[in-house]
Formats: sequence, structure tokens, C-alpha cells
Amino acid sequence: MRIERENPARTDELVGAVESSDAVAVDEVVARARAAQAQWVAVPVDKRAALLREASARVREHLEEIATLTARETGKVLADSRGEAGFAATVLGFYADRGEALLTPGGYDDVRGRMSVRHRPYGVVAAITPWNAPLILTTLKLAPALVSGNAVVVKPSPFAPFGIGRLLELVGRDLPAGLVQVVHGGAETATALVSHPGVDRVAFTGGESAGRAIASLAGRALTPSVLELGGNDAALLLDDAALDDAALERLVMAAFATSGQVCMAIKRLYVHRSRLDEVVAGLESAAARVLRTGDPLHDGVSMGPVVSGDSAARVTGLVEEARAAGAEVRELGTVDPATDLSRGYFVRPTLVLGAGDASRIVAEEQFGPTLPVLAFDEVDEAVARANAGDLGLGGSVWSADEDRAFAVAARLDAGFAFVNTHNRTGMALHAPFGGVKRSGWGREYGDDGLWEYVQPCVVHAPAAFRAGGAGLAANAYPGS
Ligand code: NAD
Repeated sequence: MRIERENPARTDELVGAVESSDAVAVDEVVARARAAQAQWVAVPVDKRAALLREASARVREHLEEIATLTARETGKVLADSRGEAGFAATVLGFYADRGEALLTPGGYDDVRGRMSVRHRPYGVVAAITPWNAPLILTTLKLAPALVSGNAVVVKPSPFAPFGIGRLLELVGRDLPAGLVQVVHGGAETATALVSHPGVDRVAFTGGESAGRAIASLAGRALTPSVLELGGNDAALLLDDAALDDAALERLVMAAFATSGQVCMAIKRLYVHRSRLDEVVAGLESAAARVLRTGDPLHDGVSMGPVVSGDSAARVTGLVEEARAAGAEVRELGTVDPATDLSRGYFVRPTLVLGAGDASRIVAEEQFGPTLPVLAFDEVDEAVARANAGDLGLGGSVWSADEDRAFAVAARLDAGFAFVNTHNRTGMALHAPFGGVKRSGWGREYGDDGLWEYVQPCVVHAPAAFRAGGAGLAANAYPGS
């Protein structure tokens, strides 16, 4: 079946089309991946790392081409897409270095006996990825998996198959044929891949409903999985938050970059009541300076459309539902005069004031350009409200007192929490990233992100049974 993808900023323009892969095609791809992996695992880790570094350089050489494709298919502004492509190249280099540093076999040969610990790759990794940061979210799986000796089959989102397709071609170019492959399609293709008996590890990033489907398929096949799911991140602005222009602009972009369609965007803003009016006015002025909606390829635009008509309808529906329940809605930012917003899936960014904690716009991941702003009186109350709900991806605390902010941030139910920033400006490639509660399991980034793709395997010759050793009764526990 042919899947077409339109440009979400100009829906009459086709970015391209891909053929979806059925179960037979998936079967062939997995067989090729298994054959390639058998060769690849025999390549020493320093050589694998060197090939990844070369791949990273090739991605940088083609950065503009990859970024433009990504901007046209996702609706992310070109500067963002360039940043993402550059970060993906950095991820490839980072895991080349970490792989070389960590994957040398360990062990000992001394009075305790002899032990070796080596890190065995799983084999074939299936990477199922979303559309919103396709380059980064794929390379965070690809790079650690490859450096540790796995083959990878990627199933990108049908909303964004082209930029990542080009990146994967460049990465795979000098690697054994079949080591890096792509299958296209939606849930059916993902299902065929994840349940395939030739797949040894599943790495998924996406929303809750697809996550549940993937986890149960992987569970039935007894294939271990890493799941990076959605978030409903709260930012807490304490009574002493230092909110200069730069901080307010950071807040705006942490909520509205990529039209709010970022797993770790600020999705709920809790403000100490004493600062509420000042913060709302400050966010409006900051948005007037930095938030311009329009075509992602136009200069000066900082926010594009949302990804689809369904997405636009869902976000608009949430805002209207809140308005009908008595909330006040304020439109933010400016519009690029050279963009005809009616040609694409554009949703004007809004602040929603006075929504209840139980309203869907607060309680659910809205994944769009709207931000509920809520007042709180006590820090304990703000923490409890931030921690309500099933999701626990990120969070942030804003205060002029770093120690105070740190202490409050540590109380958030979150895999990571930032101080005085949020979203991409807080990321650190060396720190583990992932969610608690229903935001997923397993980690990406850092050394933890590499350990997800290997299993330690031990060979042990206890000293007790060496010639002249002390021996041990036939069924005894050592050291008991
Ligand atoms: P999605 O869950 O709709 O799709 C993700 C992938 O799963 C795609 O490849 C899609 O084709 C596939 N898929 C969809 N339904 C499926 C099903 N029933 N069975 C098998 N596969 C299926 O997500 P999306 O709209 O592409 O991305 C948005 C979501 O991803 C948000 O919830 C966001 O928070 C989350 N996300 C999380 C992280 C993170 O690191 N935690 C990062 C980015 C995005």
C-alpha cells in the first residue's frame, strides 16, 4: 500500500510517498538483519565505533538536506530541524565514544578464581519511533544498538518517514548490507515487526495507546522492551522565581516549541498566586517577541502547524471545552504575514487561565500549542497537584534560590526535573532520560542508554576448584 505524506503547513503539497511493508516484507527484512548482525558482532568495538564516527560526519555533511525534509514533513521550523539533525549526529559520536569506553570485557584472574564479563548484544533490535523528533529519537536507539553489535530495523512514523530515511541511508552506507534497515507503515507493520520471532529487543517511543499495544505484543513474544511514552510535565514557578525577559522567553519556548508537540514540553504551569498576573502578562509579552506562527520554512517563524487535521481538531476541542467550562483563553504571539494559515493544520497558541485540575486540558497530555496556567498557594500543594495523574516524564521548578528549587524538584514524580529551565535547553546527553509511572520503562541517553542494548554474560572458574584449591561441599553455597 502506498502511504502519502502531505506538508502539514501546505496540505495541498505532497512531500512524498512510501510503500508500506506487509508481514512478508518484514520477514525478509528481519532475515537480512540477522545475517548482517552475525558479521557485525565479529567486528571489534573500536572499529564499530570508528564507522559510527564516520556516519556522524556524513550526517553533518548532509544536514541541510535532512533538516529540510524533516521540516517539510513534520511542520517543525527549519532552525529546529537543523538543531535536531545536528544533535542526531552528536548522538552517533557520543555512543561511538561510550561504546568504546564501556564495552571492553571485564573480569579478573586472582585468588578468587577467574571470571570474565562480556556484554553480549541482543541481536536484532526493532525501533518503533514517533514523528515529532524522528532524527533524535531514532539515533538514540540506533547508535547504542549498533556500537554494541546489534542490527536495527526502524519503523518510522508514517507522518515523518523521509528525513530519517535519508539519515539511515547515510548511516548504513559503509556498514554490512542489511545491518540498518527501514520498514514503512502504521500499526500493522509495527505489529508484524514487534511480534516477529527473529526480533530480540524492542525499543519504542510514542504515545500511551501504541505503547500498550507494543508492550503486549512484545510480552506475548517474550521479547524485552524499552518504552519511552508520553508526559504531562508540570512547571512550578515559586514565589521567588526570577523572571527576567530571557526566563520568560525560555518558558514560552519550553511550552510552544514544535507547537507543543514534545514529550517533555511544559504542559501545565503552576504559578504562586502572588505572581500570577505578572507571569501571565510577562508570558504574553515574551510570546509577542519570540513566538511567531507560520510556515516552518519561512525566516523568523518559531512555531509551525500541528502534525495533522486530527491533531488540530483534538487540541482545539480541548481549548473549547475549557472555555465552555469557564476558563479564559488568551491567544499568544504573532503570525507570519507571508503564511496563509488556512492552507495548513495551524492552531494559534493559547494560554488557558482558570481551568480546573480535573479538566482534560490539565489532566491529559494535550500535545499541542496550548498551556493551562494554574495558581497555587503552598509548595506542598503544588507538588501534590503536579504529581497527580499517571504520567511522570519531566518537570521543572523555577526559583531564585537554586537549593530550594533543587529540593522541590527532587519531590516531583518525574524521570528528570529541571531547575529554571525546561524541555530541550535542560537536556544533557550524559544524563539518563526516561519516565516513571506510566511514562515508560528503560532509559535513553547516557551510559544507561547503552546498557539497554547488551546483556552481561559471565564465565566463572571458582578458585575453590582449581588444582590445590580449598574445594567446597558438593551442594554448598559459597561464603555461607
Ligand atoms: P504514536 O504512539 O501515535 O506513534 C508512535 C509509533 O507507533 C509510530 O511509528 C506509529 O506508527 C506506531 N503505532 C501507532 N499505533 C500503533 C499500534 N496500535 N501498534 C503498533 N504501533 C503503533 O505517537 P506519535 O503521535 O508519533 O508521537 C507522540 C507521542 O509520543 C506523545 O505521546 C509523546 O509524548 C510521545 N513521545 C515520547 C517521547 C519520550 O522520549 N518519552 C519522545 C517523543 C514523543
